[in-house]
Amino acid sequence: MEHIGIMGAGVAGLSVAHLLRDSGLRFDVYDQDEQYGGLARSHLWHGFPCDLAPHRFFTSDPDVLREFKALVPLAVMRRKSRIFIQGHWIQDPVNAVEMMLKFKPTISAQLVFHYLFRKQIKEDNFEALALNQFGKSLNRLFFKPYSEKLFGIPATEISPTWGRRKLRVGGLKDLIRRQSRLYFKEFYYPAQHGYGAIVDALHKPVWKHVHLQHRLTALQQLPDGRYEATFDHQGHTKKEVFTKIVSSLPLPDFSRMLGLDMPLHFRPAKLVYLLIKRKLVSVNHWFYFADRDYIINRVAEFANFNTKRFADDQTVLCCEVTDTREFSVERVISDLARADLLRPEEILDTKVMDLSHAYPIYDRAYDHLMVVAEEFFARHPKIFQLGRQANFAHQDIDEIYLKARDIAQRLRAAPA
Ligand SMILES: Cc1cc2nc3c(=O)[nH]c(=O)nc-3n(C[C@H](O)[C@H](O)[C@H](O)COP(=O)(O)OP(=O)(O)OC[C@H]3O[C@@H](n4cnc5c(N)ncnc54)[C@H](O)[C@@H]3O)c2cc1C
Repeated sequence: MEHIGIMGAGVAGLSVAHLLRDSGLRFDVYDQDEQYGGLARSHLWHGFPCDLAPHRFFTSDPDVLREFKALVPLAVMRRKSRIFIQGHWIQDPVNAVEMMLKFKPTISAQLVFHYLFRKQIKEDNFEALALNQFGKSLNRLFFKPYSEKLFGIPATEISPTWGRRKLRVGGLKDLIRRQSRLYFKEFYYPAQHGYGAIVDALHKPVWKHVHLQHRLTALQQLPDGRYEATFDHQGHTKKEVFTKIVSSLPLPDFSRMLGLDMPLHFRPAKLVYLLIKRKLVSVNHWFYFADRDYIINRVAEFANFNTKRFADDQTVLCCEVTDTREFSVERVISDLARADLLRPEEILDTKVMDLSHAYPIYDRAYDHLMVVAEEFFARHPKIFQLGRQANFAHQDIDEIYLKARDIAQRLRAAPA
């Protein structure tokens, strides 16, 4: 009899479960954590719904939007986001024209000169791609420092694939460009209970199938083609046999269980939550710090995501830090103070959370290793890899949901 094992109860695992809820197929979801939701969950802190760094919902697929709206009431937000570069606040995504206007004439002249007279070099790393597309000055000001801070490796060691997927910069024509994954002017956010309302809604109809505190520790293919999974459940070993597996677990961990060693790495992040005695720190949903001498990457202010105010004289910021070599909460606060955003004496409380798998690192081995993984998993047609960790890609939740829909259709169409 069919029994589908869904590994991981984040957006990926819960989406598949949700889409199978009335299929008649037997399925169960397992997660090592005490809570479901993975990276997309929220928690309450001092009465504020807090997400794991800024999370917004955007899709250009009308069907996905319709399905999400049916799942959870979504409010439309007009995006407000900024980037702090060398003392200047500029719009996000970076706009080359605005940068030329805002910076000192000497820097602006260099930006224009290096952009117009850039030489094309072999594009075999991220820095080469940024130099080819935007020239030396824009690379030095923004792309190089921010990417190196994010991934913790030199820009020349980052795969150009990341740049091709994620470069956030526009020229003149982008000023008038409409909605796209990079240039969206509006996004959606749950009307209540933070971003986690989405995973709550996915979880609700399938909660009986979700087994928390079940860490997958081993997976073995049996002679009849099924898979025997071993879980650690609060110190006890449990075994289950599945006809098919959907895995949203980190690709290197999961592939290792099947005998494939993948030297791929994730960049962990620290999230520093600050309760501040002030109505608002800024009007932005999120803002970035591009420069290397700021250890913060990005800050979210949750009050700006919520139409309902939780307190008139308090606000919560969440600061994401991946460069943890000089990490301390005091350093995070001093970065914000240096940018004139707050005074240290306004901080009422602090809290730090660790994300062990925040960012898949696209190093130069990435493209080759993804081909290796694809060939390996082609030999396991009853295993479906889904999600940010399993596909080792900076996917957003709408992209994951689209893939979940495809997997659920395949599972419904071909029972064991
Ligand atoms: C800082 C940040 C900001 C983001 N902002 C946005 C945004 O604005 N919009 C957007 O759409 N997306 C955003 N994303 C991406 C989004 O959060 C993820 O794509 C999505 O939540 C990933 O879901 P997932 O189920 O693939 O992975 P996860 O949420 O990581 O879930 C994987 C689950 O597997 C479990 N697990 C791991 N190992 C085991 C094991 N051995 N046994 C059992 N369980 C295990 C984990 O506990 C986890 O719950 C952001 C991500 C980050 C890091």
